[in-house]
Amino acid sequence: MKVLNQTNKTDRLSFDVDLIRSEFPILQSQMNGKKLIYLDNAASMQKPQEVIDVIDEFYSKAYSNVHRSVHRLSYEATIQYEGVRKKVCRWIGTKNPNEIIFTKGATESINLVARSLGNSIIQSGDSILVSRMEHHANFVPWQSLAKEKSLCFQIVELDDQFKIDQKDFREKLKSNPKIIALSLMSNVLGNLCELNDVIAEAKSSGALVLIDAAQSVAHAKLDLSQLGDIDFLVFSAHKIGGPTGVGVLWAKEELLNQMPPYQFGGDMILDVSDEESLWADGPHKFEAGTPNIAGVIGFGAALDFLSSIDWTGLEEHERKLTAYAFEKLEQVPGLKLFGPKLCEARRPIFSFEMSKVHPHDLGTFLDHHGIAVRAGHHCAQPLHRHFKLGSTTRASFCFYNQISEVATLTNALEEAWKFFRAEKNK
Ligand code: PMP
Repeated sequence: MKVLNQTNKTDRLSFDVDLIRSEFPILQSQMNGKKLIYLDNAASMQKPQEVIDVIDEFYSKAYSNVHRSVHRLSYEATIQYEGVRKKVCRWIGTKNPNEIIFTKGATESINLVARSLGNSIIQSGDSILVSRMEHHANFVPWQSLAKEKSLCFQIVELDDQFKIDQKDFREKLKSNPKIIALSLMSNVLGNLCELNDVIAEAKSSGALVLIDAAQSVAHAKLDLSQLGDIDFLVFSAHKIGGPTGVGVLWAKEELLNQMPPYQFGGDMILDVSDEESLWADGPHKFEAGTPNIAGVIGFGAALDFLSSIDWTGLEEHERKLTAYAFEKLEQVPGLKLFGPKLCEARRPIFSFEMSKVHPHDLGTFLDHHGIAVRAGHHCAQPLHRHFKLGSTTRASFCFYNQISEVATLTNALEEAWKFFRAEKNK
């Protein structure tokens, strides 16, 4: 393995998991005296040194507020901050930086859309559609808007392959929903969805379409031109190696121009008199207050990092990881995997139950082995409840995980099974 920090961008041109890992300082560390095996990537990804350095450098040498002052530092901070908007454009395959709004995460991006549409085109009696597998972030904002404005809130069910149930979708489309909000990949099931037909049908029914790419963004390159005629796209920086507190909302400029602001003050103001206020144009209309400047600049470094990786190699590595983990996890005694039965339908997120073992006990057992997983409902209670599950344990891998980490996980799970069975029989 290369020494930390000596990798350069040319080295990343052909995907090498050991080289990539060497750029993430925390992955070189231990947890509870064991090599850290970080399998909580669906919650948040670790950060490469490059991102940490850029944030550190900005605070130590170049920090200032943006947009407001006339001095050099502020001018340069503004150039850097606005430059990241262009990087996001390149990352998702669009050209217009006015269509990129920085928020504090996917959750805020969805709340922004819900609140803004709720104060404009969505009227009492209208219908809204989400799916059974949505994260609370793409469920509760719509549910609560529906309660406030007496809307019809509908949930489209999944079929036995954990895909959108076409029959149910077509039935619910008859109510002519104003907006359909769907995730590209569930944070519990790990299924990367094929949504093109669903999006086309939704659009021809006249609905606006919001796509939540918070999970898919780390596993499949985002490309707006491949997603169909969607209206909104949201994701968070922290799930792709960027800092926390930064997210993206992409929407078509003409739509953004029609939408009222979501929060007021600071950067979103053009002019204020005693009688009325006018809003700034473009994305600034939705970026009230002092933004997360260092976070956005760090996000730019994460995008540079990800753009320098060979994604064909990355996806091939993840396919191997997924296939191996799927095969090994299926062999662990007492363990039941939740989600698609076909390995090809999956990306490397695995939620499971171990018979008669509470997920928190299992998570704690794994923690003692240096393995970080998540236990709970993963902010997807409507999905868990529907399948009569209280909570599950989730091991979520990403491109920097090694195949050998799968074996360490499954060995520890086998030990856990023996341990908890012995405890029960005492
Ligand atoms: N949608 C999905 C599918 C997610 O997995 C998450 C985060 N777990 C979110 C939305 C919300 O993202 P954030 O907490 O970064 O706002």
